[in-house]
Amino acid sequence: MRIILLGPPGAGKGTQAKALAHRLNLPHISTGDLLRQNVSSGTELGKQAKDFMNKGTLVPDDLVTRILIQRIEQPDIKAGFILDGYPRNINQAKALDDMLSGRNMGIDVVVYLDTSEPVIIQRLSGRLVCSLCGANFHIKNMPPKKDMICDNCGGRLYQRSDDNEETIKKRLEVYLEETSGLIQYYEARQKLYRISADEEAEIVLNNIIHLVEKYNDSLKV
Ligand code: AMP
Repeated sequence: MRIILLGPPGAGKGTQAKALAHRLNLPHISTGDLLRQNVSSGTELGKQAKDFMNKGTLVPDDLVTRILIQRIEQPDIKAGFILDGYPRNINQAKALDDMLSGRNMGIDVVVYLDTSEPVIIQRLSGRLVCSLCGANFHIKNMPPKKDMICDNCGGRLYQRSDDNEETIKKRLEVYLEETSGLIQYYEARQKLYRISADEEAEIVLNNIIHLVEKYNDSLKV
């Protein structure tokens, strides 16, 4: 199974992608995580990406696509993957189609996480991320058991530098201008499935699993 999670920032793509990857035993590929790893380890690519990320704008397509190709070439993606944060525009969607078809692969399902703006702002402004394992928490909705410590691995939690009000607004603007057009792109290819993502994370996850199971059943008919 090759699944894309699509939706505005704050729709819960990261949380859902991690949980789904765990349930389906598939790797989770997040271009945001890959970029942040490059920024924190100070690679040339990270240096080029950093300012775009801090402003909330998109990193140039060729940089992100390069990172993704490196990841797609790893052997663990043979059984499939959950892709989160890519594509962000039509150009990237086409690049993804090319990179997969060149390897005799294709996308099976695109899950669009439909979320309202007040929920997005509330989620992002309280989000906490583990510095070791990347797990997501929330100051109010999903507080860690110990203050600023990850329940899963004991790592320190931090607030992402782009989760401030000004950058959140910019990221939403960028999403509307550049990413939302992907809904039509995948709808036209009959790959898009909509899931309401304003609900609690566990309900949303069960709805996604149900959808994936139905898709798998339809392949058997
Ligand atoms: P995310 O973790 O998906 O919210 O991404 C954080 C930031 O990384 C975004 O605001 C962009 O600056 C950058 N980014 C992540 N994925 C992409 C992508 N596919 N194309 C361009 N920029 C990206």
